[in-house]
Amino acid sequence: MKKHNFSAGPSILPQEVIKKAAEAVLNFNESGLSLIEISHRSAPFVAVMDKARNLALELMGLENKGYSAIFLQGGASLQFLMIPYNLLKVDGKAAYLDTGTWSSAAIKESKYVGNTEVIASSKDKGYNYIPKNYNIPTDADYFHCTSNNTIYGTQIKEFPTTNIPVVCDMSSDIFSRAIDFSQFDLIYAGAQKNMGPAGTTLVVVKDELLGKTGRTIPSMLDYQIQIAKESMYNTPSVFAVYTSMLTLEWLKNFGGVAAIEKINNAKAKLIYDEIDSNPNFIGYAAQEDRSFMNVTFNLADDTKKDQFDALWKAAGIEGLKGHRSVGGYRASIYNALPLESVQVLVDVMKQL
Ligand SMILES: *Cc1c(COP(=O)(O)O)cnc(C)c1O
Repeated sequence: MKKHNFSAGPSILPQEVIKKAAEAVLNFNESGLSLIEISHRSAPFVAVMDKARNLALELMGLENKGYSAIFLQGGASLQFLMIPYNLLKVDGKAAYLDTGTWSSAAIKESKYVGNTEVIASSKDKGYNYIPKNYNIPTDADYFHCTSNNTIYGTQIKEFPTTNIPVVCDMSSDIFSRAIDFSQFDLIYAGAQKNMGPAGTTLVVVKDELLGKTGRTIPSMLDYQIQIAKESMYNTPSVFAVYTSMLTLEWLKNFGGVAAIEKINNAKAKLIYDEIDSNPNFIGYAAQEDRSFMNVTFNLADDTKKDQFDALWKAAGIEGLKGHRSVGGYRASIYNALPLESVQVLVDVMKQL
């Protein structure tokens, strides 16, 4: 039976990417060797790493604009620590926007490193909206935000303008919409939501930002070392980088972020229209802040839970259960999820 994969992460990847990745594990580029048994310093793998890094910059329109792209390990969660290590001055401060679980986790790590100020939070309403009209202190070393709140289903539509560097966790909506990526000074994303398998994290950083904190940075946590070594300071996660490269290639062939954004908008409209018109469902996030990647909703009448669960499971839908901290349902409609799968879910919702 055809499956419709709405998992939040790790999550759906294009079928052709999964096939090519599987082929490379068996026989990489007709070499008679597996992708996962060759040296990461061999010419064929160095070419993969270079291509992945270049494609990431190209898809963001950040080539030759003073940015470096690197693929690291430790997940987006290690970036929560690496960012203050590399950007927060010894006697400086960092400004954070708290829009949910991931922002809070980033704030916690920054506090280990230095002075960390939370300038606005939506915790008062269960993180169901994005704070607005807050002031970003002009003397902070950077401003940190999470573009898409994977768990609660909110998304920043317009980013604040400020004279200080802007750092953004785009783990769950990177490459999903055409925004001006040059408004950010550092962008990072764990691969496993919208870019590839678990095991690697993309960091895109403006070079001029680095080396200014006055602090000694351990080698593995130092962006300048990772950039100088072209993501090969130590052994990279070769499979995750290769499969991310394939996904980026797939996206480029699709027409890039502007082309995928059109489909993403159509998918989001389809499901939110159903949530709004069907009295059986209540959307979780404030309308103007709704995520176009993670759609969170609840049943109006919880006694219908068993009936609804049976309906979507019978339709081949997977991964619809909400995060344990929110409950209800979450439909993750990442780049690789076809419109057709959203239609299947909406048809099921109409049956309730
Ligand atoms: C999943 C997620 C993370 C955590 O990613 P890991 O790679 O598991 O550390 C961080 N931020 C956001 C927005 C996420 O969706």
